[in-house]
Parts: sequence; structure tokens; C-alpha cells
Amino acid sequence: MTQQVLADAAACTDAVGSATGKPRPDTAGPLQVPGLAYGGDYNPEQWPEEVWAEDMRLMREAGVTMVSIGIFSWAFLEPAEGRYEFAGLDRILGLLEQNGIVADLATPTAAPPAWFFRSYPDALPVDRDGRTLWPGSRQTFCPSNPAYRRAALRIAGVLAERYADHPAVAMWHVHNEYGCHNAACYCDTSAAAFRTWLRRSYDDDLAGLNHAWGTTFWSQRYQSWEEILPPRVTGADPNPTHRLDWRRFCSDELLSLFIDERAVLRQAAPHRPATTNFMVMQNFDALDYWRWAPHLDIVSNDHYLISTDPEPQIDIAMSGDLVRSLAGGRPWLLMEHSTGAVNWQHVNRAKRPGEMYRNALAHVARGADGIAFFQWRAAKAGAEQWHSAMLPHAGTDSSVWQDVVRLGADLKALAEVKSSVNPAQVAIVWDWPARWALELPSQPSGAIRYQTLVRDWYAALWEVGIAVDFVRPDSFPHDRYPLVLVPSLYLVDDAGAANLAKVAECGGTLAVGFHSGAVDENCHVRLDGYPGAFRRVLGIRTDELFPLLPDEIHELAGEVPPGATARLWSERVRLDGAEAVASYAGGPLAGGPAVTRHAYGTGTAWYVATCPDRTTLADLLHRICQEAGVRPEPGIPGGVEVARRRGADADYLFLIDHAGLGADVAAEGVELLTGKEVNGLVSVPAGGVAVVRVPH
Ligand SMILES: [Zn+2]
Repeated sequence: MTQQVLADAAACTDAVGSATGKPRPDTAGPLQVPGLAYGGDYNPEQWPEEVWAEDMRLMREAGVTMVSIGIFSWAFLEPAEGRYEFAGLDRILGLLEQNGIVADLATPTAAPPAWFFRSYPDALPVDRDGRTLWPGSRQTFCPSNPAYRRAALRIAGVLAERYADHPAVAMWHVHNEYGCHNAACYCDTSAAAFRTWLRRSYDDDLAGLNHAWGTTFWSQRYQSWEEILPPRVTGADPNPTHRLDWRRFCSDELLSLFIDERAVLRQAAPHRPATTNFMVMQNFDALDYWRWAPHLDIVSNDHYLISTDPEPQIDIAMSGDLVRSLAGGRPWLLMEHSTGAVNWQHVNRAKRPGEMYRNALAHVARGADGIAFFQWRAAKAGAEQWHSAMLPHAGTDSSVWQDVVRLGADLKALAEVKSSVNPAQVAIVWDWPARWALELPSQPSGAIRYQTLVRDWYAALWEVGIAVDFVRPDSFPHDRYPLVLVPSLYLVDDAGAANLAKVAECGGTLAVGFHSGAVDENCHVRLDGYPGAFRRVLGIRTDELFPLLPDEIHELAGEVPPGATARLWSERVRLDGAEAVASYAGGPLAGGPAVTRHAYGTGTAWYVATCPDRTTLADLLHRICQEAGVRPEPGIPGGVEVARRRGADADYLFLIDHAGLGADVAAEGVELLTGKEVNGLVSVPAGGVAVVRVPH
């Protein structure tokens, strides 16, 4: 079937639609904030009112232009069901307006009040083991519960009506971090909603579902829709397609809550843009944001560092590129990050001198038009009392405060980069269902992590300053990028496989990582040899997989750096038109191909059938870039991150020194942070940042 699809895809001129095929909402206007937005979550109800005046004064001192308010204010605004108290929020919005600060006004629906659960105990979520999760935290609700949905839409509607025309309100902030704590609920209400979703997805065809899920095995065949349950805890491994569809359902179920809240807000204030804060960062994978992004007027993201990550700067850059890609290449907002430590990891490390500044400008370098933190003033009490803030417990006599003030001033100096875009010649395929499927139980190796595989490939390009966009397999015209990288794509449907094959067939370069193309959208193995969907374009055939044990490392030979090794994965690859670029020097597959290159159509397709060490992978990917005609930014010293935003009249060259050594980089133009002219060389301060306006 796949080969037929590939043959049908022979024409190189087909257009491909948008990521979801749905139009982006276009009734809302842009975010009305001068320059780059700057601020954070503002939770003044935690403090007596006499503190609010000081907040305003210090916000002005720091250059704050926008704050997110009301995110956890449900109990403050609706202390009893149907009884509203808006006097406090009125005063807060009035103060912001007087001080020239706009509000990103949230619907408070991520944290229902205690009264809600007394009245509607059935709305409490149930985990996979059948345990009820009780109130006392946040986001403790079942996404499918009708009482929750009614209550959420009611408070959203009342807020929207009251503040639709308030001059301080610039944007709606819908909910908060959807799916952060309740991405999946396994209660009976959610089970019924899952069945409704399945009947819609399978056109009410139970036989079709039985086929898709492969229920004939292990006596899992369903005779009625009512027999289907969420994938609750089981004694042995669950059905993989059942699990995969469950993850799709859970993402869609939360999306439906967003869409309904958004509709209520739009009805009251059609021209005011709305966002919700995504969590594109390495430890969160609950939602398929490709399906979400078209429903947002402005895409925003929260990003936090993981304390044990030795190179968090790579995670920031990758997150920023992915968020920008979700936004369709348009600018986006960093809605939350931290000035220092968070409070939700085992050990929460503070940021090193200059690190917060570099983090913030790295997001701007990747297309962010606003920088915000959780939160404005560090809390004395409550669950996040040890989370850092713009104004720390120590007050203004602190390094953090000095850094916050400096960042505000420097973002003002960068105002002109607003709305500029990030050009890229390389696309990396990113797909949430492929990630979910790869990490299901009962796979050939439980040691493979999607995020790690993609980041390994991304890092090789980041190190030399090659810009990338992220794409879905079938969401981009095959001739848009001269080079398309597919680090990991275990699951791919026929349309996605055909689009990727056309990249090479029509003159581009395609590079595919191991164990890709193995299954279709229903997790059915593509037969007659791996990597099924890409066998023909790659010119190879694998007849058996040889995942490696944790300590198992094999040397590589061929066109690889001295000492090159492979770990994690290997396959018995047979050449079927491709040439071997590298092969195994030892182990059970000694002499067999580990990296292949195939001339296909008028282009080239590479297969990386193992996980090479970092140096070898970088060497290989740099060669692939070079052969594809993709050049790094020239003259960038090691340890300096480079990114380029393109405006109408100039490029903006961001140079960020992570090595702490400082560097001189060739450039012509004006360095915006100092205002100095650059004639030939710009100095990047040690551990600092330079941004050069380079006229076209
Ligand atoms: Zn539920």
C-alpha cells in the first residue's frame, strides 16, 4: 500500500495545506503593547492592598508593560456559586491603567474553588489506578465533567461581559497550562466521553475500531461501544492503539474546553486576541499542540529549565523554534519562565550570574515578541512560596531585582525587532502522536526517548548556527526546504510518508533516523521490511532490529571521525540502491551498514540506522547540510549561540555567549543594546549578549 502511495506521489508540484486544514481565527486584532512586552504573572490578591501601590511603582521602575492577572482568582472572584465580587479586580485593573500597564486577563478556570467540589464531587478526577484526586491543589477537575464545563464557561462569560471594553485589558489568557496536572482522567464520565470521541473518529464503525486496534488478539474484541473503557491500570501491557487513541482523545478533550471558553470570550469582545500558555519544554508531552495552535490568536509558551540539564540553552532554543513554528512562523510570547529557581524539582538550582538575561534574550532571538515570568512578587505563603519571582523575597536590594530592571531596559532597546521573523532553510519533523507511539509499552527498546533523539539532531545544527523550523510530516510543501530532517518518526501515515519522500524525489535532501516509518497511524506494522514507509526512498531494507543494551557500544567504520561509536540501537540493513557511508566495526552486525545514502529522484535520502555518539552525529549532519547547500552562520566562535531575525529593512543578529569567554564576531551595523556602531567586529561580552541590526 505504501509503495503505491509513493508512486502516486510522483508529481513534484502538489500543494499541501495548513497543519490542520482549519483556518486561523482572524477576527481578533493584534496585541496592543508598544515594543516587546515585558512582565509576569501578577497575583496581587495574595497581598494587602497597601502593597499594590508599591507594585505599580516598582513595575514602572522595571519597565513592565504587561501583566497576566486573575489566573488563579476563581475563589477571589466567585466566593460562592453565582455570587461575584469584582471590586478588587476593578481596583487592580484601574491601577494598571493609571500606570500604563496592560492586562492579560485570565479566565481563572485552572483552579476551581473549594465550594465547587463540595457541590460537584463527581468533578474530581480519577487516576489510572482508580484513585480519586482530591481538592487542595490546582487543576483538580475532570476535563469531561459537565458541571465543571458549565461553571468554567459561566465565570469566563461573566468576566468577558464585565471587562470586554476595559481599556487596561489587552488580551485574554484562557485557563493556565492545560493538561499540566490533569491531562488524563479515568473516571466513568471520561470513559463515556472517550466512547463518544471514538464513535466520531471511527464514523460509528465498531468493526473499524476493532480492526484498527487489532483486538482479535488476546480476546479483546468489542461487541458494543459500551464495553470500551479508558486504558486503566492492567496486569499486562495494554493494547497499543487503545493507548494511542486515548492520548489523542485526552488532548482533544482539553482542546474542546479551550475552544468553548474562547468562544464565550469572542462573543463578548470579538476583536480582543486570546492566548493560552503552552508548555513546550522537555518534560511535558500531554498535548498535540499542532492541533491546538490554529485556535489561538497569539501563541504563547511557558518554559522552565530542568536543573539536571547540562545544556539548558539548547532546550530553550529548540523550544523557541518549535513554538514559533506552531505559531506559523509568526512572533509569539514567552508567557512564563523564571528569574531563578523553580520549586517543583528535586533540587531547584538558582540561575548563575547572567543566565536569566541570556535565557530571556534567547527566547527573543527565536521569535518571542514578549518576555514574562512567573511571577511578579515572590509569595510568602502557599504552594509556590519557594518559586523565584521578579521581585524576590529579599526585595529590591538583590541581584535578581537588578537583573530584572536591566532586562526591562534592554528589551526596550530591542523594540524594533518586534514582528520580525526567523528565516530557516532546514526543517525538522516533530509529531506528537509519533512521540506517544514510540514510547508505548512493549516496544523493541524501552530506552528510546523521542525528545532526546530530536534534541540530539537539533543540537548539531544549533552548535553551528543553522536555523531550523519544525514541521509536521505533511504540513509543508515538499519543496519549501532544501533539507528536511526526520530524527524520529516511528509512526507516520501514508500522506506524511509521501510528502517526505517527495522532498528527496524532487531534488531536496531527506535524512531519516532509525526505527522511523515502522507503523501507520493505527500502530500497524508496515510489512515486508523496515523502515516500511521510507524503505523505497531510502533504498534500503531492514529485516531485523537489534536494539542495544544500556552499556553496549559498537565502533563504527567508514566515512566517520576516528573513534566513532554507536549505542542504543542497531538494525540489520540490506542495501537496495543506497550506498553505505558508515558500517559496524564489531558486534553481531559487523560489516553491515549503519549510515546510508541514496540518490533518489533528483535528490538524496540518508538513513541513520543507529544512534551515533554526539561528535559523529554532528559530523554527519554537518556533512549532510553542506551537501544540501545549507551553510552555517560564518565566523561564529564555539560557545556563542547565533540566531537571526529578519525585519522589513534589516536583519537582527543575536549573539549569545554561553562559554563565558566573550568573543569578537564579524558584523556591520548597529549594536542595539549599547547603541554603538559596528564597523567590522562586534564584541559579545563574556556571558552576555549582542544584537546587531544589519541593514539589508
Ligand atoms: Zn473524568
